Amino acid sequence: MATQEPDRGARRRWFRLPGQHPADSPEPTDFESEAQVTTEEAPEERVTPEPVPEAPVEAVATPPVAQPVVEAAPPVEVAPAPPEQPAPAEPEAAEEFDDSMRLPRVISIANQKGGVGKTTTAVNLGAALAEIGYRVLVVDLDPQGNATTGLGISHRNVEGSIYDVIMNDTPLDDCVEPTSVKNLFVCPATIDLAGAEIELVPAFSRELKLKRALQGARDDYDFTLIDCPPSLGLLTVNGLAASDDVLVPIQCEYYALEGLGQLLRNVALVKSNLNPELDVRGIVLTMYDARTRLAVQVEREVREHFGSKVYRTVVPRTVRISEAPSFGEPIIVFDATSRGAVAYRELAKEVSRGTTRRAG
Ligand code: ADP
Ligand code: MG
Repeated sequence: MATQEPDRGARRRWFRLPGQHPADSPEPTDFESEAQVTTEEAPEERVTPEPVPEAPVEAVATPPVAQPVVEAAPPVEVAPAPPEQPAPAEPEAAEEFDDSMRLPRVISIANQKGGVGKTTTAVNLGAALAEIGYRVLVVDLDPQGNATTGLGISHRNVEGSIYDVIMNDTPLDDCVEPTSVKNLFVCPATIDLAGAEIELVPAFSRELKLKRALQGARDDYDFTLIDCPPSLGLLTVNGLAASDDVLVPIQCEYYALEGLGQLLRNVALVKSNLNPELDVRGIVLTMYDARTRLAVQVEREVREHFGSKVYRTVVPRTVRISEAPSFGEPIIVFDATSRGAVAYRELAKEVSRGTTRRAG
């Protein structure tokens, strides 16, 4: 358990946590206190008899540095892992089951910072869930369309896109494309979508366009992952309003948590005004480089602050993950045994753990 870290009190923080920045909360709102409650209750209240010891280590690059951090991590709320089949047909621990685990589930992958791994997570988590056997739809809600190309779909060949679904009421089914991974589908984005942010402004029920569009096809997929754009504009609000959960990727870098308070406040706003079911149900640490002290410190701080909301799996920074999109393949196809592929498979197990397949 002993670490080489200096005394915690004396340790300098590398970033500010939400709510700690004086400018982070100029005007206290209900949403803020709601967001605080959501994030701070976790470590205290969820007590598991024994902390899960070493699971993340396989997914993390170098053990020596990561080890103490893993041991210091707060207890993680987990149902007992199914031994063989990661997609349980029926929940193993019935008493652990709650409604939040019911499929189908729509998950927004959101963080208004760019380059934190949203698209990479949407593509690779989606592929890993599909590999387990779930039917998965990735909705590309970013005008840059990186999830679309990352899944091997060329913008030129797209007949209908998420723009048509949101702005022209085109049925989602008409725009969904299969990918090279069985069970994995994508609703592509083209650059048209950049205009939607503005075109939506005067639209009727502008925040609920995507929710309505997904409702018709909701039962066709076990998981729908929405790759949100790097902003908190109307497209992201549409993503959040259409979702059951939010998954927030955090890059293990300097200023990792900057803006997170704002994101949590927006989630709280959408929850109270548009979508009472919404919750930040998971935080995933991405681009983790165990050789850097900074990554280790970011991980520790995030786990201290968010407790069991943080997935045990940490996605390592690897060249293979960054190369895969240019081949239009998820990492589990591009390099099936790489550390990145292992990490996203582990994450898929955590995200799907406890879920039960829909009846019928
Ligand atoms: P966002 O969607 O949040 O803007 P991306 O998923 O597009 O972020 O990632 C930004 C860049 O970082 C991309 O070039 C991507 O290939 C790269 N990247 C993402 N995750 C990793 C990782 N784990 N290791 C190495 N590179 C990564
Ligand atoms: Mg992106």
